[in-house]
Amino acid sequence: MKSSLRIGTLFGIPIQLHFTFLLVIPLFTWIIGSQIEFSISFISSLFGGFDDAIIKNNPYIFGFLVTVGLFLGVLVHELAHSLIAKKKGIKIHNITLLILGGVSSLEEGIPDPRVELPMALAGPLTSLSVGILCWLGVIAIQAVSPPDHITGAFVYTLGYLAVLNVMLFAFNLLPAFPMDGGRVLRAWLAKKMPLRKATKIAADVGKGFAILFAVLGIIAFNPILIIIAFFIYIGAGQEFSVLRYQILLKDLTIGQVMNTPVVTVSPELPVPRLIELMYTTKHLGFPVVDRGQLIGIVALADVQKRSTIDREALQVRDIMTREVLTLPPDASLIEAFKLMSARQIGHIPVTAGGAILGIVTRTDILRVMELQEI
Ligand code: ZN
Repeated sequence: MKSSLRIGTLFGIPIQLHFTFLLVIPLFTWIIGSQIEFSISFISSLFGGFDDAIIKNNPYIFGFLVTVGLFLGVLVHELAHSLIAKKKGIKIHNITLLILGGVSSLEEGIPDPRVELPMALAGPLTSLSVGILCWLGVIAIQAVSPPDHITGAFVYTLGYLAVLNVMLFAFNLLPAFPMDGGRVLRAWLAKKMPLRKATKIAADVGKGFAILFAVLGIIAFNPILIIIAFFIYIGAGQEFSVLRYQILLKDLTIGQVMNTPVVTVSPELPVPRLIELMYTTKHLGFPVVDRGQLIGIVALADVQKRSTIDREALQVRDIMTREVLTLPPDASLIEAFKLMSARQIGHIPVTAGGAILGIVTRTDILRVMELQEI
């Protein structure tokens, strides 16, 4: 992600800050600082009264300390996921801290419930442990130090972090994607049924939660609940569609599904003839071949960029895309599909040693998915 700043490496895992994170630090500092009276009374109701003079006089300094502590908690939570994943042999690209917490970017693949269950549980359980440690820290400080304002500062900060980490634990265990609880639910269901069915059920439960949160958010005029509902709804849908294509396209190579022999065009072909060829073949993209070598690709979009009058005078070489992405026949269909989605292209020529063997289109891949589902 270009929008992230790398701040260091822990256990061989790059740690990045997303730019939204830089907005969140002052925002949280301000929210906590401006509600300092409320949080002091809440924390003293949990841990007993403390000397709050230094806190009340420096609300935004304590707001900042708690915010930094919270995000260290999020980082430890993500590290727990990543370290378990690493132990199970999964490659970890990075951990990124962003507006609503952290994201561990892992190697993609079909999830294995035996790996996913411990990996998903590791984060929330770590947050719970951090919360309990902060809690114990408060009790220890209250037991050994005099009840002055320094003790008060520690009780407030550690007490606040205890509460926040326990909230991180509880919130992440909600059984809804993209929360950890959604993964725990999926891994548990997958022990009893095929992974695809398990993902479908877990995604539907997540959507149910999203709707519930949205309704509650509207009734309570709470925009944060509505934003969370939105993220859960999108996350549930994505999880299912990504898994669907990974399962359906698994083990297939583009050589198995490519169109062959492929209709190619020469660079000298006039554009009006190209349009006629599109009508007769119903293909919307053609590789351009010159003396047996692939030199470009021409698609309907390239024609549409030119006016009707211009088209009369142009040849394929004038409008074709010269930098062509090609793949060898043994490339996986999943890789081809990812490349097409990422680069917004509809056709990938299949080549070996510069010679064209066939072509694979987005429509072909979608049809293969439909066929795999029967
Ligand atoms: Zn997590």
